[in-house]
Amino acid sequence: MSNEKEKKLVIYNTLSRTKEPFEPLHPPFVGMYVCGPTVYNDVHLGNCRTFISFDMIYRYLLYLGYKVRYVRNITDAGHLEGDRDEGDDKFAKRARLEQMEPMEVVQKYTIGFHNVMALFNTLPPNIEPTATGHIIEQIEMIKKILAEGFAYEVDGSVYFDVEKYSKEHDYGQLTNRKLEDLLEGTRELGGQDEKHGRLDFALWIKAKPETLMQWPSPWGWGFPGWHIECSAMSTQYLGTTFDIHGGGMDLQATHHTNEIAQSNACNHTAPAKYWMHTNMLTVNGARMSKTAGNGFLPKELFTGDHPLLEKGYSPMTVRFFMAQSHYRSTLDFSNEALQAAEKGYKKLMESLSVLEKLSPSASSSIPSSSVDITALEEKCYEAMNDDFNSPMLIAHLFEGVRIINSVNDGKESLTTGDLEALKKLMHDFIFEVLGLCDETKSMGGSDVIEGLMNLIIDIRKIARENKDWNTSDKIRDELKAVGVEIKDTRDGVEWRI
Ligand code: AMP
Ligand code: ZN
Repeated sequence: MSNEKEKKLVIYNTLSRTKEPFEPLHPPFVGMYVCGPTVYNDVHLGNCRTFISFDMIYRYLLYLGYKVRYVRNITDAGHLEGDRDEGDDKFAKRARLEQMEPMEVVQKYTIGFHNVMALFNTLPPNIEPTATGHIIEQIEMIKKILAEGFAYEVDGSVYFDVEKYSKEHDYGQLTNRKLEDLLEGTRELGGQDEKHGRLDFALWIKAKPETLMQWPSPWGWGFPGWHIECSAMSTQYLGTTFDIHGGGMDLQATHHTNEIAQSNACNHTAPAKYWMHTNMLTVNGARMSKTAGNGFLPKELFTGDHPLLEKGYSPMTVRFFMAQSHYRSTLDFSNEALQAAEKGYKKLMESLSVLEKLSPSASSSIPSSSVDITALEEKCYEAMNDDFNSPMLIAHLFEGVRIINSVNDGKESLTTGDLEALKKLMHDFIFEVLGLCDETKSMGGSDVIEGLMNLIIDIRKIARENKDWNTSDKIRDELKAVGVEIKDTRDGVEWRI
């Protein structure tokens, strides 16, 4: 690691249910796999929360100097509507609905996902494999699991034998549940069921004649189950055991539990050393989900075009809103919280502009503890080293804002060295680690936009003074058409992109 200071990162591991020191298997390399989106429709803001949280985790690992191989898959086949390997194939259903080829559906929503991720300023993963691109690897893995005796074939479908596996392994280890309890919570098998045991799950599913996406296999034409895709792709690109496996908490009980079982059965080793799970974004306490119908699309959030939204919020306001809560806490959506985040984000960005203009002094002010930049930097590292505690980091960054304002008001002073250290600290943690960006600057230079907007607002003011309402309305409407909103307030005219 290039970072000279020893940084003691601890990570909460779902597997051990404790915070553990982060000790990668092959430092400085880190392998990280995150379950990606199922691209049969638009991602909602809840999905975005998980990917933005892992983006922050990825960014901090990079910042510490690790060489991270970040793999995030695209699920583009094999995801049935029911949790028990039944129901329609989500892609086929959507393809029929939109009168498209299933791969057209995949293409449309993959592009949409990438666009949204770019708006939120997330870094692309190093590898983004698709389930349909790894059918051979999945078949090979299923063949091995069969050969190891942990799976069985029934009429062209292959199922994982959970009861047999449980004789040698702890199937419920990830959620800390005993097999009997898991069995109790699962419904009885019906006469029509091909499965031998209630907890068994499909590795390969026989295609029906009308199945749109199907592939040849040793068991006939069919398609892979959802869980095997992640096991096959993570093994392919990160090896049989890698450092971090992540996803949303809703994936723990089934998807990740089954991934662990598949890897143990096939590779004789657990897939990951650390399991990390992000908590859910909720709306009025209920989990935001595609099926519950309470999912905002990011574009609805940006425009404010949704019955639950009082107005639109910019991507960086939303990213800041998310960073204000710890990734393992639930985060409830509300207009009040977003409006507070909007103010907080703006304050942070404004302080950076002030920081640029501050002049150094011959000495830093006494008592130096109130402007101790080295101590502040340590606190920022400590927050992130404590299982990526971004809300704590933000609290420390606002201590930085306090110092900036205090120096600007002439109440305190900083030497050249301290000023440079403060600039580096604020830029590094705000932009590189939290992944925020200055939205006005990213749109072509804040000074130019600021200058143009002041000019336009002045012209509108003159038009209004002359009671030229046509010109005044035209300016407001045409600015709105290009995405700039202006508002007359008691304190003057406010505008935002
Ligand atoms: P999906 O496209 O449904 O497979 O979900 C993609 C990712 O989003 C998974 O890691 C899920 O755990 C995660 N996810 C789904 N709903 C939410 C939510 N309400 N809050 C946070 N993450 C979520
Ligand atoms: Zn997965």
